[in-house]
Amino acid sequence: MAAAVPVRVRLAPSPTGTLHIGTARTAVFNWLFARHLGGAFLLRIEDTDRERSKAEYTENILDGLRWLGLTWDEEPVVQSARIEAHRAAIEQLLEGGHAYRCFASDAELAAMRERQQAEGRAPRYDNLHRDLTPEQQQAYIDEGREAVVRFRIDDGATITWNDLVRGEMRWAGSDLGGDMVIARRAPADAIGDPLYNLVVVVDDAAMAISHVIRGEDHIANTGKQLLLYAALGLTPPQFAHTPLILNQEGRKLSKRDGVTSVGDFRAMGYTAEALVNYMTLLGWSPPEGIGERFSLEQAAAVFSFERVNRAGARFDWDKLNWLNGQVLHGLAAGELRQRLLPLWQARGWGEGASADVAWQEDLCALLGPSLSLLADGVDQAAPFFETPVPDEAALALRADEASRAALSALLEQLPEGPLETEAAQALLGAAATAAGVKKGVLMKGLRAALLGSLKGPDLLTTWLLLHRLGSDRGRIATSL
Ligand code: GLU
Repeated sequence: MAAAVPVRVRLAPSPTGTLHIGTARTAVFNWLFARHLGGAFLLRIEDTDRERSKAEYTENILDGLRWLGLTWDEEPVVQSARIEAHRAAIEQLLEGGHAYRCFASDAELAAMRERQQAEGRAPRYDNLHRDLTPEQQQAYIDEGREAVVRFRIDDGATITWNDLVRGEMRWAGSDLGGDMVIARRAPADAIGDPLYNLVVVVDDAAMAISHVIRGEDHIANTGKQLLLYAALGLTPPQFAHTPLILNQEGRKLSKRDGVTSVGDFRAMGYTAEALVNYMTLLGWSPPEGIGERFSLEQAAAVFSFERVNRAGARFDWDKLNWLNGQVLHGLAAGELRQRLLPLWQARGWGEGASADVAWQEDLCALLGPSLSLLADGVDQAAPFFETPVPDEAALALRADEASRAALSALLEQLPEGPLETEAAQALLGAAATAAGVKKGVLMKGLRAALLGSLKGPDLLTTWLLLHRLGSDRGRIATSL
């Protein structure tokens, strides 16, 4: 029996934009598959589009993957550094008669497409320059024309592969758009910039990639790439085409849908754990027993393409928010504080008495259970760091005589020093009795005075936290 091929998969992002959620989801499936089988997860930066590729996008993509916990195993391969290998492959194809130079001008190609359209045919290259004689070629060169290199695609070819997600796949050569350009236009004695399908095949082979896992928008490319593997005498990898992420309307999620980059989700206060968890669920049904909230490691232990759906996966904000809440509720106060602190500090919060770590952790313990986004931990923490502007309901209550009387009584008995839960409870009871009002009236008034709102987290804990900062007295006094 032949030795098993080591599992090596790759993510091949183009650094022409920030890390897109679709690319990140492809990364998740690659990572899970590699980790499940003890294989390697690699990166290749596809920067051959020199005009649109930017170093800052590469940084953004690597940063985003790191943040999500999708660690890779070898130095990323930079595609542009491999151009000589790409050119050599094109040379090989030209020499073997698998590729040829096409001198067709843009105007001629446009006229061809118009003709096809008028005849109601799908646009394709009509292979016109496939069999030029050396004299015809020379005539074009003498005219001063440059040439692209095209790879012959036999219309009669049938390409089949066993897709790990979609099963038996079959593609007709005649459906691939005619002979394919593999190098951009250049003088006929040179080879222009190599193009996507060619470079991907050369690089995947050089990196010994065993499984190509990518979005189903690449299915036609796979057909073309399999023909290239054969012509170059290379062994093709296996393929898995994952379902696309769809928007609420069922169309492919695109920039027009607003939030699509991983950085956007991060800035909105989503945690990496919830986002990778959610992306895993976008197109994969977890087996019984692990539920819907899981870590990457838990998913890797049970991941297989058998449970990846063929249908597109609709983006569901409610599910993502629910997962994010689950992650936040499960964080220890110290961990939550670590995550919130940079956001608080960005607002200039956490100075003076509120810089105390224990105080901040107690605040996190109070707010944690009600957070759905990390950003909620900024909104809800605001009245603890800054004197709140009272809302209408709180202002209305400040005019209430009974409430005022109770708050005055409380203020008189408020100690300067530390205050514990039991003593605070007793104090509330005593102040309400002294003012002749129900304790509930005092509690409501106290909340309005402290938070500027009738809503908020547990009152007693809130009060004690503010007391530790020494800011309860001032707030109560101002409200009277
Ligand atoms: N650079 C390609 C993309 O971002 C990679 C596709 C592939 O995985 O082959 O779509």
